[in-house]
Amino acid sequence: MIDLHTHTNYSDGSWDLKKLLEEAEKSEIEVLSITDHDTLKAYKEITEDSYNQIFKGEIITGVEFSTVYNGVFFHLLAYDFDYKKLNNWVHENYEIRKLNLNIEFEFMIDSCKKNHIKIGDLEYDESKGWPIDIIYPEIKKHQENKKFFKEEEWNHIDVFFNSCVTNKNFPVFVDFSIHYPTADVVAKEVRRAGGKLFVAHPFRYRLENIIQFLDILKDNRIIDGVEVYHSSHTKEQISILEKYCNYHNLLISGGSDCHGEKKADRKIGIGYGNINISKNILNNWNRF
Ligand SMILES: [Zn+2]
Ligand SMILES: [Zn+2]
Repeated sequence: MIDLHTHTNYSDGSWDLKKLLEEAEKSEIEVLSITDHDTLKAYKEITEDSYNQIFKGEIITGVEFSTVYNGVFFHLLAYDFDYKKLNNWVHENYEIRKLNLNIEFEFMIDSCKKNHIKIGDLEYDESKGWPIDIIYPEIKKHQENKKFFKEEEWNHIDVFFNSCVTNKNFPVFVDFSIHYPTADVVAKEVRRAGGKLFVAHPFRYRLENIIQFLDILKDNRIIDGVEVYHSSHTKEQISILEKYCNYHNLLISGGSDCHGEKKADRKIGIGYGNINISKNILNNWNRF
């Protein structure tokens, strides 16, 4: 069993690196990747400590980048790169970068105005949360705005946010390349460091046509493969992605997306119960 998608408290996981490695050892993970959001700090720690005493399996370098392509905000997993060759770039372009929340806020307000969505005069105050935490309730104050949105978008802030950052036709669309390097830039840097790229959990983005998005990533050589196995994917979704990868000769990756106690029902190695990914998926990765 392998697990190529896990988080520590260097991003939004609740375990520190040592605890994650202990749990991986307990679960008899054969190959592990730690894929924190937008940081390689776990690998810095690994090079400095003798963690091979704790975890006996193999570790593949990994990271889960926040990025944008063709207006769609998504997660791009990078694997099997030379940490030393990628670290400086990640540090400068992700680890020390601050999000441009004022610009995001203005962007959203402009979109609302252009699309005749009724809102009052608002100013952004970071202490009150993300831009959407201020704009979403304001939009909902005015019943006449309801006609611009789907039922789910109107009722759930997370669905609303997803549409904001992935759908160019959404009336409150905001292009997240104001915050993050675009996927073509990320791909170039990861390949320079000898790594491979996989689009993370494709069914999580609520895109109307996920296959079309995969085609765009594939045709523009952003990805080498797809994260087929993920705790959130149903059997049907897994089978769609398996077929897609086999047909287009793309590599396959997968993992639990374990975050420790924070998402306690999503367990290392097995996810919600039975992902249990075979080491065989690595056979095509040409790692040696
Ligand atoms: Zn993710
Ligand atoms: Zn993740």
